[in-house]
Amino acid sequence: MEYAQLAASDQDFSLPYPANLQLALNKLTLLAWHQGAPAPASVVGLLQLAEEQFGKWTIILPDSDIDLDESLLAYGRPTRACEELGSLRGDVEGEIRENALMRAVMDKARSADAPHSYVAFRELLIRRPAITELELDTQLSKPDLALLSAEVREAYDPVPPEAVADGVVRTCGGCDGLRLPLDDDRTWVCADESCPAPGTPGAEHAVSEGARWLRRELRTFVVAPGHAELRIADAVAAMGVPVALWPDFDACDLSVFDDRHWVADVKAWRNPVRLAHRLRDRLFAVPAEAEKAFIVIGREQVKAHPRYVARLRKACPQVRPGQRVVAVSEAEFLRLVRARVEAEA
Ligand SMILES: [Zn+2]
Repeated sequence: MEYAQLAASDQDFSLPYPANLQLALNKLTLLAWHQGAPAPASVVGLLQLAEEQFGKWTIILPDSDIDLDESLLAYGRPTRACEELGSLRGDVEGEIRENALMRAVMDKARSADAPHSYVAFRELLIRRPAITELELDTQLSKPDLALLSAEVREAYDPVPPEAVADGVVRTCGGCDGLRLPLDDDRTWVCADESCPAPGTPGAEHAVSEGARWLRRELRTFVVAPGHAELRIADAVAAMGVPVALWPDFDACDLSVFDDRHWVADVKAWRNPVRLAHRLRDRLFAVPAEAEKAFIVIGREQVKAHPRYVARLRKACPQVRPGQRVVAVSEAEFLRLVRARVEAEA
């Protein structure tokens, strides 16, 4: 991930490679020797291997929470699996709260006593991962966002050169993010692995409109769970039930019902066992007055991984039924909310 960041930055990449990439090569070489398997000859070989699905590797990775159809890189970019594996070491979700920009947004909204601005900021990021200068100006003229205009501008980078062809930038109809070209330069795919509808082409913007793209860490940790957060909030509101997104400046993702409220943390991890590791280390802090607390798994993740919730509960006993925090699918969560509404009616 560090290498990809370097390679994507404006400065020309120069050797040496990041030290941890060399360290990974050394460790993998040692493992290959033990197994009598061929090892990558260089960092370049390692990067090529990283493009292969784990099922095709001749080196066996013991005790690793990976699926055989996953790879570390796709078209030279870190995959969601790569990010999740990386974040098991560093605390990336924690980092997003420690992230200088998110911190600045929270501090400013809090000192202005403007929770609506904080919510509007997150909603904009989720609904508009790719945006034109004109649209950005329009959004910033809204009162809630005006307070945070400097931070909003900082959240977006200019689109990377590979996203531009024939003078246009292509977006995805499923998530409003960018589509990027595959190696053949003719097929354009959505860059968001958690996209609800990655096959749908969206609007095309002329480069002259100054298209911008949300920074990578914000796409991963704000936008990916954000699809499900907004969808659940809409569905709950449609039942006539009060719902708040990121209440109390992000104490949790969702708070439902006015009294004896239920709180939820929405997760968009691709792999249930990796998420279980994370949850065993740190489960979210449930406010004392909440009646129930849930970890909610988005529809896209449940669809991609059969028995996601069962595997998560098996690997993390702290979120089994009967515990203070229970892991459920998005559909199950909505069923529970509806059941309470009907019981109280
Ligand atoms: Zn998409």
